[in-house]
Amino acid sequence: MRAKYSGDYFPTESAWWRDVHEACQSDGENWFDAGSNKLVRMGNSTSFWHEDWTGSGSFRSKFFRLYHLSKLKWSTVNECGNWVNGAWQWNLKWRRPLLGREQLWAECLMSDLAGIRLVEDSFDRWSWLVSGDGIYSVHSAYLFLQGSNSLAPDQVFSAVWKSLAPSKVKAFAWRILLDRIASKENLLKRRVLVVHDQATCSFCSAHLESCWHLLFSCPVSNHLWQLGANWLGMDLISASSPREHFTQFKVGRNSTQRRASLSVWLATVWTLWLGRNSIVFRSTQFNHEEALDLVKRHSWSWIKANIKGFCYSLYDWYANPLSCIQSL
Ligand SMILES: [Zn+2]
Repeated sequence: MRAKYSGDYFPTESAWWRDVHEACQSDGENWFDAGSNKLVRMGNSTSFWHEDWTGSGSFRSKFFRLYHLSKLKWSTVNECGNWVNGAWQWNLKWRRPLLGREQLWAECLMSDLAGIRLVEDSFDRWSWLVSGDGIYSVHSAYLFLQGSNSLAPDQVFSAVWKSLAPSKVKAFAWRILLDRIASKENLLKRRVLVVHDQATCSFCSAHLESCWHLLFSCPVSNHLWQLGANWLGMDLISASSPREHFTQFKVGRNSTQRRASLSVWLATVWTLWLGRNSIVFRSTQFNHEEALDLVKRHSWSWIKANIKGFCYSLYDWYANPLSCIQSL
């Protein structure tokens, strides 16, 4: 486990997995990670602290102080508790008794764990999102990279791949297009969440939190899209899928302009997702003005970092994004 998270993936499971993983590195990005998903069952090969196994970030990154106090830093999920009369009980071990705020964090961690149900005698496994049966094949990966697999008959995946966003944002966008983000609906399907009432939208609390509702049709997210469209000077069409929604942002006379305008779409979904996680894990409120500001800043910094001829200041970008894009 230690070797795995010191930069060496799948060291004990199989050398073949390690080879696959290494072969998938391209320009510092890993398409295998983006196209695959861990299904946690008994937690036998999943790192409790290091892996993002609940779909909301690793516990190490969320509870860094607790991680340092843990006696089980390199343990699997399965080693962090026991089965007692057929029911799973967590048993997290600390180097010393927890004090003050640490106890509060531990309570937050336990509440994250509360809806999780492990499955006895069923091994964790990787699922390849691209093929219908979840099984990896060289052929499906080849088609995936060609952008011609059955889930992506058009150029949408290729456009995401060539976009200007950081690889973690690209991977997130892929997951949106495949409906594989850790929305509460998907957590219910994967049985990470077990109580249906816990699956309402983190923004409006009025609908089931599906990927489509959360990021596009919810009044809260829709309002951010409207603000962004007004800022860009474009009219939003009423889309019926993430793919359609994405495509309307792919506008411009050349590929550079299209990549720049797509940055706004990617920055918006990313901002919505971070905002949603902040509500879920830190009980914050969603603020549309701050969110729009983040969309503008993210998109500007991604364009600035990747397009040489983009010489506009953040101020120019805020004031007139369309003319910045059209000059590219
Ligand atoms: Zn909602």
